Amino acid sequence: MIEKEFIEKIKTRLEKEKQGLIKELDSFADKKKNLKSDWAARFPNFQGSNLEEEADEVEEYENLISIERTLETKLQQINLAMESMEKGEYGTCKTCHQEISKERLEAIPETAVCQNCKR
Ligand SMILES: [Zn+2]
Repeated sequence: MIEKEFIEKIKTRLEKEKQGLIKELDSFADKKKNLKSDWAARFPNFQGSNLEEEADEVEEYENLISIERTLETKLQQINLAMESMEKGEYGTCKTCHQEISKERLEAIPETAVCQNCKR
């Protein structure tokens, strides 16, 4: 069993990380209403009128979307990890139901699978 103290420590870390992710997402994306953790990157303001500038902006927007997805995925993993803490299931591998090593939890606190089951 994982000690409560260890979980509390991880929880604090996850909470901090979560706030950081939300702040980062907030800076370039809008949270969609009615969805728990779905964000949409804001399209950059069109200031230029020529096609080349527009192409740059489209490229920038595509970059933002890919960053947004990465951050959002991480945020979802953190949310799930925190939910599993509340249910008392944190630290158990979702795939094989074995205990995940503390070393792994320290390294990737939001993980839901053990070393053997990771993809
Ligand atoms: Zn496993």
